[in-house]
Amino acid sequence: MWAATVARLTESADMEEEEEKEPRVPCDSDYERLSVLGIGSFGRVVLAKRRDTGDLFALKLIAYSKLTLPKHLERTQTERDVLSSMRHENIVKLYCAYRTSTHFALVSEYCPGGELFHHLCRRRVFKAAAVAFYAAELSLALDCAHARGIVYRDVKPENCLLDSRGHLKLVDFGLAKVGVADLYLGAHSVCGTLEYMAPDVLAKKPSGYGLSVDWWGLGIWTYELLTGLPPWYGPDRHKLFKNIRHAPLRIPPYVSLAAASLLANLLRRHPRERLVGLQNLKRHSFFANIDFDTVSTHDNPPIRPKQGLANNFDAKFAALDVDDDDPPPTRKPATRTAAIVVDRASLQNWDYARPLRS
Ligand code: AMP
Repeated sequence: MWAATVARLTESADMEEEEEKEPRVPCDSDYERLSVLGIGSFGRVVLAKRRDTGDLFALKLIAYSKLTLPKHLERTQTERDVLSSMRHENIVKLYCAYRTSTHFALVSEYCPGGELFHHLCRRRVFKAAAVAFYAAELSLALDCAHARGIVYRDVKPENCLLDSRGHLKLVDFGLAKVGVADLYLGAHSVCGTLEYMAPDVLAKKPSGYGLSVDWWGLGIWTYELLTGLPPWYGPDRHKLFKNIRHAPLRIPPYVSLAAASLLANLLRRHPRERLVGLQNLKRHSFFANIDFDTVSTHDNPPIRPKQGLANNFDAKFAALDVDDDDPPPTRKPATRTAAIVVDRASLQNWDYARPLRS
């Protein structure tokens, strides 16, 4: 298979007249904005139709006015860099990136099935077989990131979308960090969604933490899908962090033995005792009925998303104006880092168009 691909590529390299041109980076007028799908930290995600082909895309618009700290700019660039370098069935495909006078724009494949969180809210909990299916797809996405030295750091059901067939796609790489090759070392920032933060992230050790925090994230995510809430859920941040670090893990009796064992192993506080890595996960009895090699192309995922435009998204977003942005924060950011003023020239290495054959 590989030899055949190489042979074909070599052949086509010789046929200069027929060589395909690289795609041009599009601009805003190439897209018609249809409706708001969701709101991210720095702007909105809009369902957009390509005017020439009629194809639908998700257009993430990141307002310059909302990027007020150097780390905001860094995260924006990371998301563009990471997504443009990824090719995986369970990671959202980035098609292109361009700039307008007010926004950085990322054009990705549209996932009409909406957030896994949306489906969880409707069902309250998922059956173990469905959780095993989605956990396998999420693990494959995390493993792909880890193999490239990227720690994801924001596992949660809101960041897992479903495509039209019902397969999981991981989105939002804004908190990812590149250059982390070790399971236990390499990253230092305390970031992520509060309920999902690993004890090793909260510990703020000089040695930091590594890829294993994503497997902790998978443990919290699995717990939430099986029971409806993350463990130690509560409004008091101080208490939540204390519980993440010290409270016993209580697993409801209706959770099967295999699932309980998976949770207990993923949610080990000491990262070196934690169940980490795709190969180890595959061997766990919770995944006895999952074929990791074929799961991402399975014909019958547990949820078949409703068809139609933006039918699986919160109606409150559909009521928003596709062209408006929420006003920029008026208060000064609570940090000692100096605020910055961002415009289209702030990220020179932004414009991108996915090569035609990938
Ligand atoms: P984000 O800023 O990436 O966290 O996106 C905010 C929200 O927009 C997500 O939680 C989704 O509801 C929606 N969204 C983001 N990307 C897509 C996509 N590719 N397809 C459909 N909806 C998306």
